[in-house]
Amino acid sequence: MTVPKSITLSKNQVEVLKKYSNRNSPNESCAILFGNNINNTITIREIFLTENIEKSPVNFTISNEELITAYSQAEEMNLEVIGIFHSHPDSVPYPSSTDEKYMEINPVTWIIFSNRHDEFKAYIYNSGIVPVPVKIM
Ligand SMILES: [Zn+2]
Repeated sequence: MTVPKSITLSKNQVEVLKKYSNRNSPNESCAILFGNNINNTITIREIFLTENIEKSPVNFTISNEELITAYSQAEEMNLEVIGIFHSHPDSVPYPSSTDEKYMEINPVTWIIFSNRHDEFKAYIYNSGIVPVPVKIM
């Protein structure tokens, strides 16, 4: 697994993710991110909002049905499932120990939004949690 140089989101995508997270707060929100990776630089093209079936303020789970739909939509759009987004309504935008376990299984870039700190951060698992710079354009 190569660590991406950066992950880029548009201002509009940031707004969509913030609004969705604020609406679902105090529970965590989640989404699947479609995009492409060119020269190790990730650009998000589409956001697939998903339901947190756990309805929990400290964890999230995406249903298998939504995962299957997301993968087929990404394929139809000629995009890759390039990232996983979730929110931390009341804590820092840093992976929890549960997140870390799933990051190891799912080595895509993970974006975490902290509602409390109004901040986006990204990480990837590469024998440990490695930060990926987030660019908003
Ligand atoms: Zn988390």
